[in-house]
Amino acid sequence: MLSRKPMVAGNWKMNGSLELVQNIASTIKSINNDDVEVVVIPPTVLLSNVVASGVKAGVQTVSEHPLGAYTGEVQASLVKALGATYTLVGHSERRSIYGESNEDVANKFEQAQTDKLIPILCVGETESEREQGQTENVVAAQIKAVIDKLGIASLNDSVIAYEPVWAIGTGKTASPEQAQAVHKFIRDLVSSYDAEISESLQILYGGSVNESNSELLFAQADIDGGLIGGASLKPEAFKIICESA
Ligand code: PGA
Repeated sequence: MLSRKPMVAGNWKMNGSLELVQNIASTIKSINNDDVEVVVIPPTVLLSNVVASGVKAGVQTVSEHPLGAYTGEVQASLVKALGATYTLVGHSERRSIYGESNEDVANKFEQAQTDKLIPILCVGETESEREQGQTENVVAAQIKAVIDKLGIASLNDSVIAYEPVWAIGTGKTASPEQAQAVHKFIRDLVSSYDAEISESLQILYGGSVNESNSELLFAQADIDGGLIGGASLKPEAFKIICESA
């Protein structure tokens, strides 16, 4: 039944080096899994190097503006011109450290699609939101901000990454059952607008995925792969994760 292609994306955050680009590129070429789509999301300054290495690439954020006097920002059109396919939008570190609101994230999502980048919309609850039973409300609001602004059809050319904030970089991963429950919630939410879009939407899990837990997570019915932080900086671990998708 699954027409969804598994995908594994490595989010390097503000890490990595020219040397790692070469190491990861040769490791990715040795991956024993023709089905999985592998993406590397380095710091933007390394984008051209990743593209030149022959690996599919993305960036971690783009400006919500098309161009102009926004010192330090990066325009989506140039990212696309340099050969990227994807951009993250709304990663929890952008939301919490740089104050990006659901509305800002929807604006970036729109600009990315305008410039033909595929946005990977990151959503997820904090630990206290989970404890207060707010997980579904938080995730729904993050997704509805995009649907309300751009329409359900905008999810056609996008990916969603569910990343519980309490699991990011903490070593505390969601159990496969916990993750699957939220992924199913997301798919049902999208289905309440459009069943076909819901069925084809890739929903990745992120948050302390490593080479030991990826297989069970990716085996869940509504988990279509992963967004990998720390483990994506270790070529051998990243390879095992990609092979398990
Ligand atoms: P992590 O990060 O795998 O290091 O938890 C995931 C992410 O932030 O995308």
